Amino acid sequence: MAYEKLTPPKTGNTIGVRSDGKLEVPSDPVIPFIEGDGTGPDIWKASQRVFDAAVKKAYGGTKKIVWFEVFAGDKANAVYGANTWLPDDTLAAVQEFKVAIKGPLTTPVGGGFRSVNVTLRQVLDLYACVRPVRYFNGVPSPMKEPGRLDVVIFRENTEDVYAGIEWKAGSAEAQKLLDYLNREMLPEKKRLKHTEEMGVGVKPMSAFGSKRLIKRAIDHALAKGKKSVTLVHKGNIMKFTEGAFRDWGYDLAKAEYGDKTVPEGEAGAGKLVIKDRIADSMFQQVLLRPDEYDVIATPNLNGDYLSDACAAQVGGLGIAPGANIGDRAAVFEATHGTAPKYANLDKINPGSVILSGVMMLEHLGWDDAAKLIIDGMTKAIAQKTVTYDFARQMPGATEIKTSEFGTAIIENM
Ligand code: NAP
Repeated sequence: MAYEKLTPPKTGNTIGVRSDGKLEVPSDPVIPFIEGDGTGPDIWKASQRVFDAAVKKAYGGTKKIVWFEVFAGDKANAVYGANTWLPDDTLAAVQEFKVAIKGPLTTPVGGGFRSVNVTLRQVLDLYACVRPVRYFNGVPSPMKEPGRLDVVIFRENTEDVYAGIEWKAGSAEAQKLLDYLNREMLPEKKRLKHTEEMGVGVKPMSAFGSKRLIKRAIDHALAKGKKSVTLVHKGNIMKFTEGAFRDWGYDLAKAEYGDKTVPEGEAGAGKLVIKDRIADSMFQQVLLRPDEYDVIATPNLNGDYLSDACAAQVGGLGIAPGANIGDRAAVFEATHGTAPKYANLDKINPGSVILSGVMMLEHLGWDDAAKLIIDGMTKAIAQKTVTYDFARQMPGATEIKTSEFGTAIIENM
């Protein structure tokens, strides 16, 4: 692969993908990383030390990640020139090496560039946004029993109102589409009024896009021995998009996993239960009956809201991990932003990137290293040695720096 400004490491090997989609991971995979903007460098330094220490401890030197820095955000502007937020080099490196990890990135305001994150997802077709939400003992939470929630949310990442197909109120394009709908598509009673001051967006959702996402959720649930997959939708109102998502989910489960799954309410002891909930009711369910849910599959917008709401429930917005996964590449990422006011203060919580790294290690099949990090973090939090964000809400806690939290995790592995 010819890069404009990147030089891949001289050591290490490339991860392969088999015809069945499974990864072939060498013992020394090259993994591209994007440090991130604002607090990104502080977070990345601490996180990388934790990953390397866990891999070394788990495999005694027989496995090792070979890191490869690639650029996006502010650093890409510095390396490639102004207004280059996501260089082709970076996309090519993620495509070549298949698995990458990133810190938070500034979203440029104006300039016609939507977001580095959204572009990465769309260009690399990273169609599943995966957000595990679990409680770490001692983390301050608004709930009485936060540990009852332990879910993995699979959010569709490429379709729905997030496809970015929309036109501004008053624009010629909006007027053209609205006129067309009124003239050709809508019965008289439903015709739109006030169209001259109406914005309009399109909510495309396909069987292809929905099923490949739901398939990932079912595969995950089966691999991890979970009890259920819940399809969360708003199909009572949006029948041909959200309602279709639910129907496609049940169809897929029946057609491809008929021997392993059963719809809720039907007999089938020991099988994975497929159920569905209307999105608004689901927000109540995760508060009132959280232990009835373990894997959730949902369209883009529902998933966006639900994953933050669930993360807040366990007090973990600052440490919530995430991944964007497709068939050909996966990017693991912090779910929070760049928190620029804390940049270079060695103060911010690196937990989100560290736990995203845990997901990455599991994706590689390096579960022993992943488990060491979870153990280390669980103990560091239980000892109340935490960064400012937790310390300010934990009576008796000792506030430590970003780098020191990394060290505390390593010492507790
Ligand atoms: P933000 O960076 O997430 O920060 C908002 C607040 O959340 C911080 O001031 C801090 O709260 C808390 N926080 C965030 N990360 C934390 C961490 N690691 N540890 C502890 N506390 C943390 O949101 P923003 O200020 O709205 O956005 C800043 C920039 O990031 C924007 O350019 C935005 O577009 C971008 N962004 C990027 C991503 C991404 O790359 N995935 C996601 C969201 C936003 P306190 O002030 O209370 O301490």
